[in-house]
Amino acid sequence: MKNYSIAIDGPAGSGKSTVAKQIAKKLNLLYIDTGAMYRAVGLYCLKNNIDIDKEEKIAFALKNMNMSIELLEGIQNIYLNGENVTEKIRTQEVGKAASDVAVILAVRQKLVQIQRDLAKGHNVIMDGRDIGTNVLPDASVKIYLNANIEERTKRRCNELKTLGKQYDKEQIKKEIIQRDENDKNRKYNPLKKAEDAFEIDSSCMNIEQVIEAILNVVKQKINDLGV
Ligand code: C5P
Repeated sequence: MKNYSIAIDGPAGSGKSTVAKQIAKKLNLLYIDTGAMYRAVGLYCLKNNIDIDKEEKIAFALKNMNMSIELLEGIQNIYLNGENVTEKIRTQEVGKAASDVAVILAVRQKLVQIQRDLAKGHNVIMDGRDIGTNVLPDASVKIYLNANIEERTKRRCNELKTLGKQYDKEQIKKEIIQRDENDKNRKYNPLKKAEDAFEIDSSCMNIEQVIEAILNVVKQKINDLGV
């Protein structure tokens, strides 16, 4: 049986990682969270006071940054020079830094290589912004998951609430809009729907409905491809 891959792209807060994790479990796929890798680079720059606006400084810093990924009980753990930073990368501040470093070509080249290497020889589900357009252009199934800004803000706030963190709803909304702007308008591999991606607007759907919709596309495609 041939390997197959599912690419899920979409803006911040559209629910990509939540549904990708559950589909990975259901279909026994390797789940690769590419946003976590950009977050790790962002965290590295923040921790080491590397000026995010200075491209050549970040490119140089990448040489000293060793990133590794390990699956622990099906959960992607990410290490920076040996330190497990899986939890530390989940802040708004790191999300913003991730979006800032994601415009830099040297960062993208390094991370895309890691992502393609991880995917090799596995059935995978990978989520991010440029998976269907750039990382896995031949993915068996491409999904573009979207939701309106109000719904995405609500979901991000609920996530923070669950984590027991303080937040300001209007501020969160502003940050998501800013991040979308950054991600859609950058020069290299901006966020956009691949021409052959199936678009799902999850604004009025719950997680189970989104998963079902994606599984329907997967079944159809996998049958057609004979994998
Ligand atoms: O998905 P997540 O919010 O963790 O992603 C953090 C940031 O990393 C995004 O806002 C985006 O700028 C960047 N990213 C990217 N390409 C990917 C995944 C994430 O540029 N494939």
